[in-house]
Amino acid sequence: MKNSGRSEIFAHDLPATRLDPALQAKRDQKIKVAMIGLCGCWGCTLSFLDMDEALLGLLDKVTILRSSITDIKRISERCRIGFIEGGVANEENIETLQHFRENCDILISVGACAIWGGVPAMRNDVELSECLDEAYVHSPTRVENAIPVVPWSEDLPKITTKVYPCHEVVKMDYFIPGCPPDGAAILKVLDDLVNGREVDLPSSINRYD
Ligand code: SF4
Repeated sequence: MKNSGRSEIFAHDLPATRLDPALQAKRDQKIKVAMIGLCGCWGCTLSFLDMDEALLGLLDKVTILRSSITDIKRISERCRIGFIEGGVANEENIETLQHFRENCDILISVGACAIWGGVPAMRNDVELSECLDEAYVHSPTRVENAIPVVPWSEDLPKITTKVYPCHEVVKMDYFIPGCPPDGAAILKVLDDLVNGREVDLPSSINRYD
């Protein structure tokens, strides 16, 4: 194969991928959904997977544009619904949450971390420097005889002094409590919104732990 220069292998040299017009039209009619995890443990994301085959019934009406499965960093098209897991603990979380607010009509806090900070907010009772020292300098699991150091790089997102619930950073429209919420609760909210009903989350599938 003739090597005529590196620029030939760059993506912008490739022909644009186009969907079949009929498929594109069908896709355009669907309600677009996006999901993201901020400062959490991804347990709430696993609750989405707990919907199992129940989610299949909605896939005729819904298309998921961004999720932890696709790992696309930005929302490529305006979405009707955005689900947020986790609280806000660094400047990247703030920027991501604002990006979701700007690109989603309806934004939903999913789980305790998104609603009030959850487990990561335990650090709110101590100074950030004290918290980092405890984690990296005094930690019993640090490498023995190594010089203790708090990691720093200008490439790392700056940590906020406190962990914030999402609604203290942007307006949130709905809240699904639990640590994690029941998959049935997430499905109920999604089903109500997709079918144009008032969101009504019965206490029988609400979790407050
Ligand atoms: S609410 Fe619970 S399950 Fe969800 S991200 Fe926070 S700690 Fe994990």
